[in-house]
Amino acid sequence: SNTEVLTGDRSSVFHSWSAQGSFSGLPIAGGQGSTVWDFDGKRYLDFSSQLVFTNLGHGHPKVVAAIQEQAATLATIAPAHANETRGHAARLITERAPEGFNKVFFTNGGADANENAIRMARLVTGRDKVISRYRSYHGNTGASIVATGDWRRIPNEYARGHLHVFGPYLYRSEFWATTEEEECARALHYLERVVQLEGPETIAAILLETIPGTAGIMLPPAGYLAGVREIATRYGIVFILDEVMAGFGRAGQWLALDAYDVVPDLITFAKGVNSGYVPVGGVIISDPIAHAFDERVFPGGLTYSGHPLAAASIVAAQTAMAEEGVVENAAAIGAYQLGPGLRALADRYEAIGEVRGVGVFWAVELVTDQESRTPVDDATMGRLKSELVARGLLPFAVANRLHVVPPAVVTAEEAEEGIAIIDAALAATFC
Ligand code: PLP
Repeated sequence: SNTEVLTGDRSSVFHSWSAQGSFSGLPIAGGQGSTVWDFDGKRYLDFSSQLVFTNLGHGHPKVVAAIQEQAATLATIAPAHANETRGHAARLITERAPEGFNKVFFTNGGADANENAIRMARLVTGRDKVISRYRSYHGNTGASIVATGDWRRIPNEYARGHLHVFGPYLYRSEFWATTEEEECARALHYLERVVQLEGPETIAAILLETIPGTAGIMLPPAGYLAGVREIATRYGIVFILDEVMAGFGRAGQWLALDAYDVVPDLITFAKGVNSGYVPVGGVIISDPIAHAFDERVFPGGLTYSGHPLAAASIVAAQTAMAEEGVVENAAAIGAYQLGPGLRALADRYEAIGEVRGVGVFWAVELVTDQESRTPVDDATMGRLKSELVARGLLPFAVANRLHVVPPAVVTAEEAEEGIAIIDAALAATFC
């Protein structure tokens, strides 16, 4: 039963980001597609994609079979050996990157992908500082957590050389802007002034999520990422785009950067690359940076870098996504279901301050009133979450926002059902 599983978990598992005494996670017994069920037989529409990673949904038979086959052939092998499946996975990934990206360094997840991208940037530039933005998340390890621009950085500030800037976010503009153009131009001006005043010769990298995810799904205004690219190039700084959450279908593109006129120097990924069936992440490396390590030793490695089970799951997931039109589905669901559906709710609820997103990557900002835009409090968000779960929808809620992030395989009917549940839960919470 749910109670037995929860009791067993609570007695011995130490959980992430939690006060252990009050931990109470919903037990999940199984899942298929966009649905999961608990041990008491209650079903839920998974509109969280867990931590925004099950882009192929749960239980994709081809990915499961590929993992099983690889386990039977060669379950594990050290990174120093050449491995056929690993090479295949790397090729499928570089095929989705812009021209001139031909190497992949595999990691265990997204945090260590950013960790190693930062390391590469520091090694090739001989510089130290890393600029990232407030309102961002880059992972929970040394440099990645300090690059993160939310509260989780503060108790973990042991890495050195990190500074943060504000990025474009018109709804809560730090630049007194009233249009996307103003917000973009001022954010770029401010970034360049920070670079100049910090000393360009000290700055190794600018690290940005292509679309900041956990921090609020803020789509970059037209020209912003291209503008950052120009600044990075002008001052010899390595530009890293973090595609861990936004990449591989989430934003209705293979990589979120495909929708913007920008080519970074390094791209980090994890989550959607294999829908998280086996832990994996990595850095897609542009040729000049890859070649910098042709003669020079790259001082980094991981026991499980390019693990065969992860590689097999990537090959199967990438193949299934292409064959089944999963990326196109995500784009269409965003354009015809989630976008219009959520905007229609915004017309009816005073509590919805803004709806923004693309693909299967949407944020709904909940506010006390339209004028002040004051975020609703934690108790209100707690009530909303309970109302959603009671109606059979697993939500992803952060601060005052409901993130509507179903799997990229979600059907039009499921999207409609999810919007109807959100409607009912909003009514129960706010009316
Ligand atoms: N980067 C982004 C944009 C993320 O959303 C996350 C996780 O949510 C990470 C990095 C860290 O990934 P992981 O938890 O796999 O280390």
